[in-house]
Amino acid sequence: MNAADWKPNAPDGAREAHRFIDYFIRNGVTKGSVLKSVELTYARSNVYFDDVYTYFEKTGAFNVACTKGCAMCCHTMVSVVPPEAFYLANYIRTEFDADTSRKMIERIVAHDAEHRGKSGAARHVGRIACPMLDPDTHLCTVHSARPLTCRSMHSGDVKPCQVAFDTRDAYHPAPSHALFFKNTQAYYDAFGTALDQSGLVVEPLELNAALATIFTGKNVFVRWLKGENPFEEATAEAALTDAPPPS
Ligand code: SF4
Repeated sequence: MNAADWKPNAPDGAREAHRFIDYFIRNGVTKGSVLKSVELTYARSNVYFDDVYTYFEKTGAFNVACTKGCAMCCHTMVSVVPPEAFYLANYIRTEFDADTSRKMIERIVAHDAEHRGKSGAARHVGRIACPMLDPDTHLCTVHSARPLTCRSMHSGDVKPCQVAFDTRDAYHPAPSHALFFKNTQAYYDAFGTALDQSGLVVEPLELNAALATIFTGKNVFVRWLKGENPFEEATAEAALTDAPPPS
């Protein structure tokens, strides 16, 4: 292929699932292997997104307008798969000093108690910020461990994002590019297929409900590894029911 025709290939969910299946056969499905699988997925995603940005820069196919500290999209619902929730919970427990970690956990649990079950649209309308967003800098405090859904968020123009935020119109569209979303979908599919084969429950969860379940429940990771579903009340579907109608 001519270098000028190069285009990043979005990950394929079925192919990534085979890689995951092979990985879990070789390593077993344990706390360590599940956390490592997320770490490897985020590393692969970083490479892929670097390629996507390079492709856009070279071709002008799309202009990403997002800038540091622009966190309007951090006022909505974020869905994750259980391995991501365990990975982020572990990050919050181990990557901060004890006081910072304790305060962050308290903030997440309180946030969940107040907002459990709210849809992304309701959170947008209420301008309900993610509890991991720094209120002063508007930066993500868990950036390197943020979920795939957050990694895929982008906009080709900040103006419609600002209009949506200012007018609280959750359905005001902003330009986007499919290459970003394909990565998240592929890895969601891969985690689902690979871990389903091991008898584990993998369904989309609402981020804060999943974290609060982990922080307040007993042996949540162990129970999930045994095939139980400790996240029955933390599903993303449960949070889609109160979406206000489009204007
Ligand atoms: S985890 Fe980080 S990037 Fe994702 S919504 Fe929260 S603050 Fe924003």
